[in-house]
Amino acid sequence: MTETRIRVTGLEKSFGENKVLRGIDFESARGTSTVLLGPSGSGKTTVLRSLNALELPERGTVAIDDVEVDFAALPKGKAGRRESSRLRAQSGMVFQAHNLFPHKTVLENVIEGPVIAQGRAREEAVADAEALLAQVGLADKAGSYPFQLSGGQQQRVGIARALALKPRVVLFDEPTSALDPELVGEVLAVIKDLAAEGWTMVVVTHEIRFAEQVADQVLFLDGGVIVERGPSAQVIGDPREERTRRFLKRIL
Ligand code: ADP
Repeated sequence: MTETRIRVTGLEKSFGENKVLRGIDFESARGTSTVLLGPSGSGKTTVLRSLNALELPERGTVAIDDVEVDFAALPKGKAGRRESSRLRAQSGMVFQAHNLFPHKTVLENVIEGPVIAQGRAREEAVADAEALLAQVGLADKAGSYPFQLSGGQQQRVGIARALALKPRVVLFDEPTSALDPELVGEVLAVIKDLAAEGWTMVVVTHEIRFAEQVADQVLFLDGGVIVERGPSAQVIGDPREERTRRFLKRIL
């Protein structure tokens, strides 16, 4: 039986006059990868940021396991922030640019969240961080500083840092778009490994070949709605909608 891990209903979000999300609904089962594709400005990042309440839609709900936020009913002030942060704690976010602390070592960067934000014992956090760094291929870089690493290595530290919080879900916002082309592959390989390992993830990317390999579910967005959805072999391999076809033709 597949267990629903993420459930999104009716997300609507405007920035001023600009209605960016016009009713987004989807579910992700536990252990699956969902990839959001679509033209620039279609709302992908706004969907992703709504999943951890970095954006607050006017309407709709997001549930990750047993933590649900109904955005229209979110109280103002402190109580609302408390609800948002409960949802945020369910996921780990990997941004376009890693934004590591420059004056801390790789290991210190990875343990910062668990020790400071989650109050976990330092020794245990260090052991976990070392295992995560090995997993992203950086066991020998624990004592290095960010400036001593390549962009791809820094982004892999960013991934280890997100995983260190033991989130239910990992969110990737165009994780390779700030990298030199020769560094993209090593980061995508790490993300593929995590998917194979059973992490539940949602990924915004323009890397179609990667999406094809990693996605259990592809959501194609255009103009703030999901125009087409399904397994990658269908949406990327044999799209039904004209808008999806046009997009893929342009990008491939
Ligand atoms: P995508 O990720 O598909 O490129 P986004 O979700 O980033 O799309 O953006 C969708 C639309 O929302 C765009 O028109 C963008 O300009 C607008 N937008 C996103 N964030 C903001 C913001 N903080 N303030 C105003 N407009 C925004």
